[in-house]
Amino acid sequence: MQINTEGLVLMEKSVGESDRLVTVLTRDEGVIRAFAQQAKRLQNRKLSSTQLLSFSRLSVYKGRDKYIINDAWPIESFFDLRLDMERLSLAQYFCELAVVLAPEESEAGDFLRLMLNSLHFLAKGLRPSLQLKAVVEMRMLALAGYMPDLVCCHDCGCYEADTMYFLPRSGIITCADCISKTTQQEPAIPLPRGVMTALRHTIYAEFDKLFSFRLLDDGIRLLADAAEQYLLSTVQRRFATLEFYHQITRM
Ligand SMILES: [Zn+2]
Repeated sequence: MQINTEGLVLMEKSVGESDRLVTVLTRDEGVIRAFAQQAKRLQNRKLSSTQLLSFSRLSVYKGRDKYIINDAWPIESFFDLRLDMERLSLAQYFCELAVVLAPEESEAGDFLRLMLNSLHFLAKGLRPSLQLKAVVEMRMLALAGYMPDLVCCHDCGCYEADTMYFLPRSGIITCADCISKTTQQEPAIPLPRGVMTALRHTIYAEFDKLFSFRLLDDGIRLLADAAEQYLLSTVQRRFATLEFYHQITRM
């Protein structure tokens, strides 16, 4: 069966002398692993459209047990990301997240839109990297069905306080009064009003407004910490690309 779709290359590796196996987040088929046959010997267009982080229009053959990319036309390469090691490593982490969280063999337009917009903001330096990281982690988890409950205090229902506590293992929030009464030993991250609002925004905002919030640096660090802890305790696995990103940013 022949499929025409659009896709973002999340991973690539060489197979044999001239073939390449690419993992692509496509609009219509979700995450697919596809052979780009003999791309090295073919024209530059097809090669460049199947490289890491390339967003392309794809003509794909779907066989019984494998996909083959017949042809590809580049739309966007996010070239600027390749010029900055820190941004590139964060982009690769976003890709690994998509491999793990986006569906296979089903429509994935929301995931693709989130990835493309995040990579655009990251490549152009339009938002702090840690803010983008928190947005991608929280929103992709929500799209994948891991929606936290950030509406109000889990115990008393109060909506706002100077400090709310986020419990990343349970994906809930509580107020200061309730957390002092609780006996559970789960870690809790105190969030001031602005950061609580931002964390809610990453989950509940309409997509068009998803990236349009601002926080001071301290707030962004808190937001990023809360998002990463929620991600890691929800997905329960390590991400080599995330560890690499932390190594680089610590240097
Ligand atoms: Zn409460």
